[in-house]
Order: sequence, then structure tokens, then C-alpha cells
Amino acid sequence: SVTLPKPAFRRVITIANQKGGVGKTTTTVNLASALALQGLTVLVVDLDPQGNASTALGVVHTSGTPSSYELLIGEVKAVDAVQTSPHSERLLCIPATIDLAGAEIELVSMVARENRLKGALNDKVLAELDVDFVLIDCPPSLGLLTVNAMVAAKEVLIPIQCEYYALEGVGQLLRNIELVQAHLNPDLHVSTVLLTMYDGRTKLADQVAEEVRKHFGDTVLRAVIPRSVKVSEAPGYGMTVLDYDPGSRGAMSYLDAGRELAGRSVTTTTQEQ
Ligand code: ADP
Ligand code: MG
Repeated sequence: SVTLPKPAFRRVITIANQKGGVGKTTTTVNLASALALQGLTVLVVDLDPQGNASTALGVVHTSGTPSSYELLIGEVKAVDAVQTSPHSERLLCIPATIDLAGAEIELVSMVARENRLKGALNDKVLAELDVDFVLIDCPPSLGLLTVNAMVAAKEVLIPIQCEYYALEGVGQLLRNIELVQAHLNPDLHVSTVLLTMYDGRTKLADQVAEEVRKHFGDTVLRAVIPRSVKVSEAPGYGMTVLDYDPGSRGAMSYLDAGRELAGRSVTTTTQEQ
């Protein structure tokens, strides 16, 4: 397949939306897989105690496995928590175990509680891991785990489900992003919006897509992820849809989204081959 150009600098992207079930995890693992298939090295950081991203990437995440929990509390270094997905040597994952479930509360009393992930994944660490992209999968809340993800990243990617109430809660998410930007991470911005679970047979899906594009403009990727059974089946096999059924519409749409996302990183300083 096509090889994407390496980004001019490492891109750290937080996948956030405090609504559950909008496709955060699905988007994280499938975009990561798409970028890896196209020649880039990607680290997925699973910050949801449910560990669904870890499951989909086929990495070990039983309780006690070095994970994002130990990383946040400073018990392990990133390099000691990273696993390689069995499906691609360019696809790395710091898993989440159930041990992360208490972290939201444990973090409250910790020094620099909002900056712990940033510290663990600083530029030097990412250079050593030699990754082009870091994608952070957030839990469905705006608590300290999500704040840590927003401090560690420059970009936020918001998946929006093409359903009723799609934009519900997005205003609150944007206000939280502004707060983090004002107080903790001036570089943070919403770089990308991705429409997910699009059902072309319904008028509603088109109306939602139109409303989201009006609201977010060019931030919205042209690629739209269709609602597809293959996409929802893949994690059950410890796979992304790109491994499970590479020819499916779901796989193709995530490949397109990955290409578009990577294309946006090409700056004027990047030399043409
Ligand atoms: P979140 O991480 O935001 O809670 P998930 O990515 O876990 O959301 O998705 C919620 C549910 O929807 C999961 O069961 C997932 O398999 C399913 N799903 C996500 N994207 C699609 C899609 N494009 N087509 C069909 N099912 C999907
Ligand atoms: Mg999730």
C-alpha cells in the first residue's frame, strides 16, 4: 500500500468525547492501524479502565501488567509498559488494566496531577520510542484521566456519532478544552472531527453530518466512517477492522481518514521527494 510521509514532528492526539459509545475507541485503534499499515509508527495509549483499545489491539492487559496506570503513578517508564500489537510491528500500545479504575481518585492527591502523562511521555521518551503518532484513547468522562490526556497532547480529535443528540455535550467538551488551554496547555486545539457510524440510508445521518460540518468547518475530515457490522465484530477477534476485513467499507474509510489526517501534518518545511 501507499507509504505516508513521516510528519515533520511527532503528533500527539487525544481522542475525546465524554459521551460513551460514540466511537472513540474504535476510531483510536482503527486510525492507528491505518497509519501503521501506511508506514508510520503509532503508539496507542489506552486511558480507559475498560481496556477496550488494548483488547482490539490484541495486547496483554490483565491486572498487574505494566500499563497506563503504573505510568501515571510513576511506577514504570513508558518503554517498560509498551507492547507491540501482534498484527503490526509499527503498532505499539500502552495498555489499560482494571487497575486504572481507581486512578481518577488516586491522582487527586498527587503532585502535578494534571501533568503526569505529559511527564511520562515527554519529547525525549517519544523520540526514544521513535513513534510518528501517539493516539490517546480517553474514558467517557472529563475527569483527571481525560485532563492528563489533554495536557499530554497538542491535538484533540472528536469523534461524533451521526445520530440524534450528536452535538449534545460537545459544548461542554469544548469549554473543557478551552480551560485546559488557558491554564495547563496553551498548544491544545481541536484539530480534527470525525463523523462515525454514518448510515447513508437515513436522512438523519446527512442532517447531522451537515450540522457538524457547519459548526466545525474544515476541521471535519472528508472521510466518514459508515455504520458497519465488520467494524463492531473486529474487536471480538482481538483485531482492528483493517486486519479483520481489509476490503470492507469500514476498513477503507479508516484508511481514508488516516491518509487525510496524516496529510494535514505535511508542512511547508517538508521536502518533496
Ligand atoms: P466509545 O469508545 O466512544 O465508548 P466505541 O468505539 O467503544 O465507543 O463504540 C461503541 C460501540 O459501537 C462498540 O460496540 C463498537 O463496536 C460500535 N461501533 C463503533 N463504530 C462503529 C461503526 N462504524 N459501525 C458499527 N459499530 C460501531
Ligand atoms: Mg471507549
